[in-house]
Amino acid sequence: VTNVQSVYDELVAKYREYTVLRTIAELLHWDMQTIMPPKGATRRSDQLALVSGMAHSHLTAPRIGELLADLEAHEQDLGSEQRANLREMTRDYRRATKIPQKLVEELSRHQSLCHEHWVHAREVGDFGLFAPYLEKMVRLTAEEAEFLGYQDTPLDALIDEFEPGATAAMFTKLFEEVKAANVPLLRRIMASPVKADGRFLAMDYPAAMQKHFGEQIMQAIGFDTEGGRLDISVHPFCSGTYGDVRITTRYNEHAPQQAIFGIIHETGHALYEQGFLPQNLGTPLAEAMSYGIHESQSRMWENFVGRSKPFWTFFLPQLKACFPNELAQVSLDQFVLAVNHVEPSLVRVEADEMTYDLHIILRFEIERDLFAGNLSVSDLPAAWNKKMEEYLGITPPNDGKEGVMQDVHWSGGSFGYFPSYSLGNMAAGQFWYAMRAKMPDMDKQMEKGNFADLLHWLRENVHQHGRRFIRNDLMQKATGKPLATTDYVRYLNEKYSALYQL
Ligand code: ZN
Repeated sequence: VTNVQSVYDELVAKYREYTVLRTIAELLHWDMQTIMPPKGATRRSDQLALVSGMAHSHLTAPRIGELLADLEAHEQDLGSEQRANLREMTRDYRRATKIPQKLVEELSRHQSLCHEHWVHAREVGDFGLFAPYLEKMVRLTAEEAEFLGYQDTPLDALIDEFEPGATAAMFTKLFEEVKAANVPLLRRIMASPVKADGRFLAMDYPAAMQKHFGEQIMQAIGFDTEGGRLDISVHPFCSGTYGDVRITTRYNEHAPQQAIFGIIHETGHALYEQGFLPQNLGTPLAEAMSYGIHESQSRMWENFVGRSKPFWTFFLPQLKACFPNELAQVSLDQFVLAVNHVEPSLVRVEADEMTYDLHIILRFEIERDLFAGNLSVSDLPAAWNKKMEEYLGITPPNDGKEGVMQDVHWSGGSFGYFPSYSLGNMAAGQFWYAMRAKMPDMDKQMEKGNFADLLHWLRENVHQHGRRFIRNDLMQKATGKPLATTDYVRYLNEKYSALYQL
């Protein structure tokens, strides 16, 4: 037994070094996105390449393979938390070692080329200029999938990177249910005589005051300012982990809701990272379970909490104190309706809560059919436009920024990533009702600006576990059932029926 413990300790020490190198790369990245002077770019890409390469070779070192094999044979001598760490470290090691170096290099070369041609083709709206590069990207990632292994379709292997254990078949089933509920609900909302009037949001909202207000919200919902900070970047993100979590936003002085909800969203990510247990730092038990579960945290705070009437019962007076002239005449109901305005739109990143999943489902279905060989790259624009019309009732005027080429993901070979966003919504819905069952007075607490119990529930049931449980075990423990769409569908129906008087 002593021997097993010392083997385990050596493994953990090695894995820790790998995570330390990763956090160094993350910090270099944060700096690049926020405050690095433009002339630092060349050196920075050298620095990032070196540190990322070191992280990769730490993880794939033969010694790690030996330690893992050794421990696998003595699993019964380890505690349950140690076994969970072993399971997750094995997963990381296998994914990192399965793909031959030659393919890794070819993928990385093609990513730069494909991205470059995507930027140009998107700008001029000519899909034909992008198609041959995308075709090769699909071929290379399908090859990658062959090395990683899968049951049904190469896409399964790619989805697994972001959502361990999830498959295209699983998402097909979940998304059919969401689609069957959301498409008709959207039609009813559009037919409602209730219309939001958000003109007051286009007035003057100086950035410094937006930041001040955003920080008030961050503190109120539990962000630890001794263990993180807020800065500005073009594309908002959250990076770092326990003890040093960096979030960013950007300020539009004629659309304050962008920074307000952006900050709440990133704070939701940050609270997850700040909620790991310090003794697990540097191991999978202090890492997010998956992209989708990370997104469940950000989306719950942004949409379920942050766009609710109880939340603004408390915060609207504070916002009015920051912007007395702009908001003097705005009522609570008017404000809440305005920040929940539903309108089918062409661009995913600008979509409202209600239509967002339909954008995701469309992308997933295209990826699924592409990797199953039922759709060819040249058919993408037509397939895209047809689904936009069917799900959202609108047709893109071009294939560029408002159409099939709007997202960066495919140009970088990130297939299988999109479903995680919607999985986050579904998981959030399920957490939401489980939490409310335990705390019947949650609305009252939010009206008073008290979010401690809510955060405590998330800490206990989600954050502190990190990657200890696989997804359905986590859902089962927290909510009493595996992941399903029922609660999320119920949430959207209740919320939008009330707002739009359906
Ligand atoms: Zn997010």
